[in-house]
Amino acid sequence: MKNIIIVATGGTIAGSGKVGKATNYQAGKINIKEIIDSIPMINEVANLKAIQLFNVDSNEMNEEHWIILANKINDLASQKNVDGIVVTHGTDTLDETAYFLNLTINTYKPVVLTGAMRPASATSADGPINLYQAVCLASCDDALGHGVMAVFSSTIYSGRDIQKISNFKTDAFDQKDFGCLGYMQDHEVHFFSKTFKKHTLQSLFSSQNYNDLPAVGIAYYYAGASHEILYSLALNHQGIILTGSGSGNYS
Ligand code: ASP
Repeated sequence: MKNIIIVATGGTIAGSGKVGKATNYQAGKINIKEIIDSIPMINEVANLKAIQLFNVDSNEMNEEHWIILANKINDLASQKNVDGIVVTHGTDTLDETAYFLNLTINTYKPVVLTGAMRPASATSADGPINLYQAVCLASCDDALGHGVMAVFSSTIYSGRDIQKISNFKTDAFDQKDFGCLGYMQDHEVHFFSKTFKKHTLQSLFSSQNYNDLPAVGIAYYYAGASHEILYSLALNHQGIILTGSGSGNYS
């Protein structure tokens, strides 16, 4: 069996609230060991070790968490007896973390993010199946060299292109025009495509050591938007991205 490390960071997959309900819960409450214990058969897929790195709502994630997480993954991946890594994460910023890790991790070993839309206490919680399938994917030889991936609702996504598209459905992510990498059925992994974009070891960023990252703010343009927000962002940011309308236009 493969040796897989689960690095837990919190989110709804570790959420708890009123039994049977999918709303009004607190994310990042339950310990990863408890979540693993609730999943039948997961210990038959791989030798598992769990690390509770954080236990936060993913809206609390920031550049400091990213650097700690990337360093932890790089450290684990450098160990000969580690075959793959699964990261549990809140869904609100899972796509941002996946994108960051896809460019900064220096390993071809599988790194798979997952989470849940329903807390562990809800009826038909989706966390257990998502985590089970993430462990199956991280244990699969075919998963080597795809860059950072995410598994959600039986779909395998590239960390580069995944986007959260629903705030209540369990099938909450998509890759839009780029298509997903593949699908999961129970423990089975079915890949259909591969990204041609640079990631992990081919990425310029994965050979660097980061202690901090420059502060970059994002301003959204909309009809009638005031330019004042740019002055405000300029006060404490080293760069500003202006997301314009159409092909990047603004008044
Ligand atoms: N607010 C939660 C989080 O991102 C939502 C979730 O995990 O689905 O941590």
